[in-house]
This record gives sequence, structure tokens and C-alpha cells, in this order.
Amino acid sequence: MYVELRSPNIHEPENMAAYNNTILNYRDTTPFLWAGGTEIMSQKDFYPALRGNIEIISLGKIEELHHFLRNDRYAEFGAMVTINEIAQAGKLVLPRILLDTINSTACRTVRERITVGGSLCTKRFKTSLASTLMILDAAIELRYMKKRMHSKWYQISRIYDKNGKLDIPEGALLSKVRIAIQQYDYQYYKTVGSPLSDPDNSLSVALVARFEQGSISYARVIFTLPSKGFIYSRDLDNLFTSIHLPVSISRYAQVESYVIDYIRENFSEIPPLQESRLRGCFHDMIRDMNETVLCYTGTPGERIQQ
Ligand SMILES: Cc1cc2nc3c(=O)[nH]c(=O)nc-3n(C[C@H](O)[C@H](O)[C@H](O)COP(=O)(O)OP(=O)(O)OC[C@H]3O[C@@H](n4cnc5c(N)ncnc54)[C@H](O)[C@@H]3O)c2cc1C
Repeated sequence: MYVELRSPNIHEPENMAAYNNTILNYRDTTPFLWAGGTEIMSQKDFYPALRGNIEIISLGKIEELHHFLRNDRYAEFGAMVTINEIAQAGKLVLPRILLDTINSTACRTVRERITVGGSLCTKRFKTSLASTLMILDAAIELRYMKKRMHSKWYQISRIYDKNGKLDIPEGALLSKVRIAIQQYDYQYYKTVGSPLSDPDNSLSVALVARFEQGSISYARVIFTLPSKGFIYSRDLDNLFTSIHLPVSISRYAQVESYVIDYIRENFSEIPPLQESRLRGCFHDMIRDMNETVLCYTGTPGERIQQ
């Protein structure tokens, strides 16, 4: 049987003004943004294209989206900066947990293609970079069309809905990411399985905390189930905050049951493999935290780092 193949129209603006013009010219269609292409190209049946007349805007040549700047308080990256470049540029200043997250994503060759904008805007699954940036309170700049072009800064958590689904205006461009330069007393990151090839069974956990006189004074924790969403809430952070260290068996059981109940209430049934991986990761994290705390001498200036 004859199947018609159509070629998409590809636009390659070289600066933001040309990008805005392309968006204005095609305001009745929803142009498709192309960053590193790693998620797009791994979609089943994406190529050859059977859909007709797609307008693809390749972001690769837009100079402004490759910029990065840094001062004492924060680092700001354009959306087309690759995660490998972020790890290289921020090796000495960015929170350790961010570098761990990047370095455990795919392999180096793929990390050289994955962009920070693409990582935050994948639609089929949630990436662990998005969750780590969420607990670090990173902010993003969005540009979107509403009669004219608008640009506005948001906390990263605001671009996802309650279930972790990307919730930005149709065709919006994430143009910059701003990450505060700060360190924590304790940072933990672990990922199991691949969100790309096995999103239903893989997961990751990330936690940052500050300690004060034998207890946790500040904690941010997030679990990521790539095909379902994020387990991230003030209640969960509060359960961790003011925990006396080392973590007792009763508090351990309390937090673990909170996480499992949260999944059952907010998402569909969790596969047994993913549930046992989740319990395993949680167990490893608490054990690691206890071990770290028991080795912590409390000497002024001593920081607990992973
Ligand atoms: C081999 C392999 C291994 C992987 N391993 C991991 C892993 O271990 N952990 C993990 O978390 N992920 C993993 N991934 C997934 C990877 O994180 C995503 O493919 C990646 O984040 C997408 O980034 P990209 O720049 O390639 O975006 P693209 O594929 O170009 O785009 C992704 C989506 O975002 C949209 N988009 C892109 N940029 C913007 C922007 N600036 N503004 C608005 N929308 C935008 C696009 O329209 C598209 O819908 C892996 C992928 C591969 C191919």
C-alpha cells in the first residue's frame, strides 16, 4: 500500500528576534521546538514523518540560548546549554547533587547532546534533572505568545502540574535556567533503571538537607517515577525536617508509608518491581544518612558531603 511521506518545514532562526518572527508568522500552527533531539528521535514512529506539514523550529543556532553567566549568588544557563557543559562549567561551584544527577544521566556522548531546556520540557517522561532542579529551587524564564511575546520567570515546580505533567502554554519556549550557588550539609542522589527505555520501572530519589545540633533543620526530598510523576510535597519535607539523627525505625516507617500512600492516592497502581526498587532506594538513603551523621564530628566548618 502506498503511504505518503511528508517533509516537515524546518526553521533555523539565528537570534531571538528571528525566533519571535517565526512564531508570529506561524501563529495559527503550533511549531515544534527541537533542542538536542534525543527525546524526539527516540519516539516510536517519529521518523519517517507520516504527519503532514509540521513546522519544526530548530533552536540550535540561536546564539542567546547558548550563553551562560555566573556571579556569587547564582549561575544562569541558556536553554541550549548541554548538561555536559553545565557539569564542566559548574564543577567547582554548583551543588554536588546536581553534578551527580548529570553524571548519572545516559553516557557522555548523549550528555553532550541533551540540553537543559529539553530535559525540563520532555513530555513522555519526567527526567531526574527536572526533579533535582526542583529541590534546589531553580527558576526558569519562559517566553510565550499572547497577542505579543511575553517573557516571565517562574520557580521550576510551577511548570509542572500536581502529577508532574508539563504545564506551560502551547508552543512556549523555556529560554533560561537560574540555579542558586549554595551547598548543603547533606546531599543524596540515586537512580535505578532508565527513564527512556523502562519508564514504568525506573525511578530516582534526591535529597538535600541542613543539620543543626543533631537534627535536620531543613530538608527537600523528591522521588521521581518517570512515567507517573514526582513525589514532592511540603508534608514530605516536613516529615524529614526536625527528624532527630540518626533516623529512628519509627520515623523511617512513617516516611516510607507516606511515600507509598502518596503514590496510591495520586497515581495508578505501582508495578511490583518499581515498588521494591523504591523501598530499596529509600532504605539505602536513610542508611547512608545515618552512617554519615554517625561519622560527623560537628567540628565548625566541617561539611558533610557525598
Ligand atoms: C540513550 C539515552 C539515555 C538516556 N538516559 C537518561 C537518564 O539516565 N536519565 C534521564 O533523566 N533521562 C535520560 N534520557 C532522556 C533525556 O533526558 C531526554 O531525551 C532529554 O532530556 C531531552 O533533551 P533534548 O535536549 O534532547 O530535547 P529534545 O529531544 O530536543 O526535546 C524534548 C522535548 O522538549 C521540547 N523542548 C526542547 N527544548 C525546549 C525549550 N527550550 N523550550 C520548550 N520546549 C522545549 C521539545 O519540543 C520536545 O517536546 C536518555 C536519553 C537517551 C537518548
